[in-house]
Amino acid sequence: MVIAIDGPAGAGKSTVTRKLADRLGFSFLDTGAMYRAVTWAALSRNLELSDSDGVLALAKSIQIAFDADRVLVDGEDVSEQIRTPEVTRNVVHVADHFGVRDRLVELQREIAATGNFVCEGRDQGTVAFPDAFCKIYLNASPQYRAMRRVEQMQNAGQYVDFDQVIADQNLRDEQDLNREVGPLRRAEDAIEVNTDNQSIADVVNALERIALAKIAARSES
Ligand code: C5P
Repeated sequence: MVIAIDGPAGAGKSTVTRKLADRLGFSFLDTGAMYRAVTWAALSRNLELSDSDGVLALAKSIQIAFDADRVLVDGEDVSEQIRTPEVTRNVVHVADHFGVRDRLVELQREIAATGNFVCEGRDQGTVAFPDAFCKIYLNASPQYRAMRRVEQMQNAGQYVDFDQVIADQNLRDEQDLNREVGPLRRAEDAIEVNTDNQSIADVVNALERIALAKIAARSES
């Protein structure tokens, strides 16, 4: 069984989807981490991200794996390295690459075939798992998403300028929405959940209700 969860950056996807997976006894697949892993691998090998053939060859040659919450590239734990601002700035080159997307979607399907998964990303309900029995689109207003980002960074002891956070977020939204392949889009049969002014616990409860209803409907049919 696959529960596909999509939505823009900062809507709270990774926190709540991890908790949802725990509650349901499902595994969790963070597909953004896969695009980040390829980006990190390219940067750490000094590969030009504009070298389309080189990036594709790299994506096909490295082994991306997950060990609980950790992300491994060829066995090396890169969980922290893939979250640096440099990787975040450059991931667009990898995410826009047709061939890399094909390769990563194929890998996502292989992983999801090994059990019950909550898969989180931008194209899970539309491209990777169009037949998923439960699809959720997690959304929030731009202001709320930016506030959440500022709070996270302040908690990590980093100074942030709200206007800069909004500007970065607008750029990422534009890239995510206008990507030629695998753009961020709500699947027609996805249920939209808005996380503005809701606690993490409230959102997890709402998602769990949706998932349990879908699981019950599935077992009746
Ligand atoms: O979710 P996260 O911000 O970690 O994703 C990293 C990048 O990968 C984002 O820029 C997003 O556009 C891209 N991505 C994607 N398709 C996915 C998941 C993430 O293009 N399924």
